[in-house]
Amino acid sequence: MKKLVLLGGGYGNMRVLRELLPNHLPDDWTVTLIDKNPYHSLKTEYYALAAGTVSDQDVRVAFPNEPKLNVQYREVSGIDLDNKLVHLAESDSVSYDQLIIGLGCEDKYHNIPGADTFTHSIQSIEKARDTYQTLNNLSTNSVVSIVGGGLSGIELASELRESRPDLTIKLFDRGKTVLSSFPERISLYVQNWFSTNGIEVINEANITKVEEGTLYNHDQAFSTDVVVWTAGIQPNKIIRDMDIEKDRQGRAILTPHHNLPEHEDVYVVGDCASLPHAPSAQLAEGQAEQIVEVLKKRWNGQPLPEEMPSIKLKGTLGSLGKKKGFGLMADRPITGRIARILKSGVLWMYKFHKG
Ligand SMILES: Cc1cc2nc3c(=O)[nH]c(=O)nc-3n(C[C@H](O)[C@H](O)[C@H](O)COP(=O)(O)OP(=O)(O)OC[C@H]3O[C@@H](n4cnc5c(N)ncnc54)[C@H](O)[C@@H]3O)c2cc1C
Repeated sequence: MKKLVLLGGGYGNMRVLRELLPNHLPDDWTVTLIDKNPYHSLKTEYYALAAGTVSDQDVRVAFPNEPKLNVQYREVSGIDLDNKLVHLAESDSVSYDQLIIGLGCEDKYHNIPGADTFTHSIQSIEKARDTYQTLNNLSTNSVVSIVGGGLSGIELASELRESRPDLTIKLFDRGKTVLSSFPERISLYVQNWFSTNGIEVINEANITKVEEGTLYNHDQAFSTDVVVWTAGIQPNKIIRDMDIEKDRQGRAILTPHHNLPEHEDVYVVGDCASLPHAPSAQLAEGQAEQIVEVLKKRWNGQPLPEEMPSIKLKGTLGSLGKKKGFGLMADRPITGRIARILKSGVLWMYKFHKG
């Protein structure tokens, strides 16, 4: 039997499994999925887990239970491309015939002193749980500083506002307005929601240092009880440590067929891959569908097109607490309750395999 090994059961590799199982895997192939956790974690909801508005169970989905799928709950510690081996933290290893690396991303701290030590994170389920505990154990009037006014910082700030109206929440953002890469109508809508709901936005921020209880913006000290970091991501350390070609963000550069240039049997999916769009769950899933197409053609000895079609993204949706939202669908800005209902609908469809 030949072995397709998937590293990480995130959005990318879950889509691979959904496309391949139960009927599209050749008879002489099996799939091994390796993830450190015994469930697929819904990373797009970590802001709500950290704010305390959804339970831990709400952000977990069971891995498929199929005879041709072997799931191992192990931590990957390295990849030996020459010998086709995946090293595991307990010092044994797993061999592969074909490999898909989908280990997601981690926080990037831009070498800001103290940021890795004195801030909380929502980039992994373990860290989001830890952030939940810290945020929800705070006494009334405590100050929470969120660094980074992108999608995850905004969703966390607004969800926390609804969960803990007694806290002082500050959002430090680099741009002139939050979501500065979105159309003005959206960034103004979000900025307005924040001022109506008592979240202080500090625009054109430049965090220069973090210490226990103090955040430095342009070297000016601000007292704070907790800092949550949502100001940058980088691919998983396993990819960062590999001796392969990478882009400026440290993500693996791939051929048009999503494999490493020197290793036709090694594919990289999702946040670890260098792709023409910003990393997202939607992108990871679109790329995964193409990887499955490539795998099927290679298994059947069929020729591959020189280029794969560009991955079509449907848009972006963000929440402002449980009642309001914003987004861009087919390049059209939407705001308010309808955007929030759409976002909940997308999550429901995903969780119950309708998407
Ligand atoms: C708060 C927040 C909100 C977001 N909202 C959206 C959104 O609305 N829409 C959208 O499209 N995207 C959103 N994203 C981005 C999206 O979550 C990621 O782009 C997506 O999860 C990437 O999928 P992936 O398959 O690359 O990795 P992930 O889904 O991150 O999965 C990686 C998997 O690898 C496992 N893993 C990691 N390291 C190891 C190891 N060493 N050994 C074993 N297993 C390991 C993890 O347990 C995890 O299961 C959001 C992100 C955040 C943080």
